[in-house]
Amino acid sequence: MLSPDVIGNLRRLAGSPNVLTEKEDLISYSFDGTAAMQQMPGCVVFVSTTQEVSEILKYANATKIPVVTRGSGTGLSGGSVPSPDCIVLCTVKMSAILELDRANLTLLAEPGATTLQIADAAAAAGLFYPPDPGSMKISTIGGNVAENSGGLRGLKYGITRNYVMGLEIVLPNGEILWTGNKCVKDVAGYSLKDIFIGSEGTLGIITKVLLKLIPKPAAKKTMLATFSQMDHAAEAVSAIIAAQIIPCTLEFLDRTTIHCVEDYAKIGLPLDCQALLLMETDGHPAAVADEAARMEQICREHACKEVRIARDEAEGNKLASARRSAFSALARVAPTTILEDATVPRSEVAAMIRFIETIATKYKLRIGTFGHMGDGNLHPTFLTDERNKDEMHRVEEAFKEIFDEAIRLGGTITGEHGVGLAKKSFLPKFLGDAQMRVTRELRRVLDPNGILNPGKMFD
Ligand SMILES: Cc1cc2nc3c(=O)[nH]c(=O)nc-3n(C[C@H](O)[C@H](O)[C@H](O)COP(=O)(O)OP(=O)(O)OC[C@H]3O[C@@H](n4cnc5c(N)ncnc54)[C@H](O)[C@@H]3O)c2cc1C
Repeated sequence: MLSPDVIGNLRRLAGSPNVLTEKEDLISYSFDGTAAMQQMPGCVVFVSTTQEVSEILKYANATKIPVVTRGSGTGLSGGSVPSPDCIVLCTVKMSAILELDRANLTLLAEPGATTLQIADAAAAAGLFYPPDPGSMKISTIGGNVAENSGGLRGLKYGITRNYVMGLEIVLPNGEILWTGNKCVKDVAGYSLKDIFIGSEGTLGIITKVLLKLIPKPAAKKTMLATFSQMDHAAEAVSAIIAAQIIPCTLEFLDRTTIHCVEDYAKIGLPLDCQALLLMETDGHPAAVADEAARMEQICREHACKEVRIARDEAEGNKLASARRSAFSALARVAPTTILEDATVPRSEVAAMIRFIETIATKYKLRIGTFGHMGDGNLHPTFLTDERNKDEMHRVEEAFKEIFDEAIRLGGTITGEHGVGLAKKSFLPKFLGDAQMRVTRELRRVLDPNGILNPGKMFD
């Protein structure tokens, strides 16, 4: 419990209506998108300006009260799950698009602007902001930067980091720091902004984001291919990349996921297949037509059962919704859905999928796997029930084996969801001693009192 004195000071700094303390209000902020993690905060404070964030951090630092920054709370690694008696500092009221600079192709936004708001503002100016996490309708750009989020277009266009040109950060002592600018080239000093990208709310609070925009592709084609064997789909993906085609989207669904999606979204997916590939190519119309034809040919050479090519944008969106609705579709079939993001080099995707299937059998678990096949980022999704202690124990054991295997294959424990609470026990093994030491020292320099998101990423 935070004392009435602390609450009074926070009300003075942020305005009384912006501070929530009632239990029924706090419950909504006691969890994020991660299954089976919950902790009540001391209070929730909605901030409106950088200055307010600075004043609150000065106060929290002086009194050593933990602060957990929160955007929309869609995180999948427990990053915005509160620490006991912390201040949840919520940025959703700082949601303005401050500037769209057509001369420099940049956009400046407050951290609580949603990813969709950014994409729409760019599109309204005839431009393109490519990162498209599945949560983009509600996730905030601050959360995207803090998690270095990726999306379906990551294969061709990269991830959030590739679009961040500058950041305004409030440090734990309240100091306001600007890093980066509108220059395409800038090599003055360390690239400090890169330290904050993916820092999961542990090093500073992002209060402004300067983003790079790019020209909108003139054309796009969406295709679906189905396979009677997962290996054939994986081989087709390898062949597409080896043919030096980099589609903007190269996603897959396994059999369990295909069935759940069809049951949920009624897209007309064939149910007699083991794997489905969603492929999208964009760019100059002639290049799009050429790439689509070559991808179709490669899929046919790898024993695909069927290729469907969308005739227009509406049909393309319908086909793409098979992948975009995968998580929601799986989430309907069990009380608890745990979405993981073990990631391996592209050449190891088929081996990793086979391993996940073996693990599902070994631990008697139901796992639907989908994900970004083109960039090796898999989402084995456990369909379970957190009230079943025995099953949850088997889920944990299965996780350990999956992450160990991902590391063994030269992969990583998380390709996009971050470490947070969910993966922190795996981080030391993955980073090794030297990287862990530097990581801890960096944290100590920026946040000597450890007030920002304590206990996340590492202890
Ligand atoms: C259905 C669904 C689909 C998803 N699909 C994807 C996907 O395709 N790709 C992907 O990468 N992720 C995906 N996610 C995960 C999640 O949406 C992303 O991590 C997203 O970037 C989180 O944004 P948020 O605003 O909800 O942040 P939150 O969950 O509120 O916070 C996430 C982390 O960022 C920190 N943080 C938030 N705002 C700030 C700030 N202003 N300054 C400093 N730290 C901050 C928090 O402390 C926390 O550690 C998905 C989640 C769901 C539920």
